[in-house]
Amino acid sequence: MSRVAVYPGSFDPITMGHVDIINRISPLYDEVIVLVAQSSQKQSLFTPEERRGLIESSLSHLKNVKVDFFHGLTTDYMKKHGAQVIVRGLRAVVDFEYEMTMANMNKKIAPEIETLLVFASPEYYYVSSRGVKELAFNGGALKDLVPQVVIEAMQKKIKK
Ligand code: ADP
Repeated sequence: MSRVAVYPGSFDPITMGHVDIINRISPLYDEVIVLVAQSSQKQSLFTPEERRGLIESSLSHLKNVKVDFFHGLTTDYMKKHGAQVIVRGLRAVVDFEYEMTMANMNKKIAPEIETLLVFASPEYYYVSSRGVKELAFNGGALKDLVPQVVIEAMQKKIKK
């Protein structure tokens, strides 16, 4: 059986914090699927297609990582694709309660699926998609916070 992990999130846009988590988990699994959520509750800066393009460009060095979209429950997607592990990143304590609730909810509906929480590296623990959008809209420098392709894509969006 091949070991498949899914890393779900909004990735609006992908940050160096996300890239760091994916770099660290990709050697642990045969395949890692970065699953872009098409959340009905959040207004996004980038379309799912744009987000997918930015993720693929940022992770082209990793051969066992692919990017996909989903509308419904992550666990339904996982059952369909034979994936066993949900990976989530943990930054500050404020992430904890949300992640614990999600993990327990997923355990309830799909007991065979495990959630793996990975601590953010110290240099990225303060980096969030929301924060980099704030910075970008207010003219702050994004170097080291997001991949170069994301810097360029954000500059284009902001000019529009
Ligand atoms: P969501 O909207 O589902 O929280 P995000 O794209 O914001 O999606 O984040 C996806 C996952 O990556 C979450 O588990 C989040 O905690 C984690 N994450 C976000 N930023 C970082 C970071 N800087 N370092 C480590 N993990 C992170």
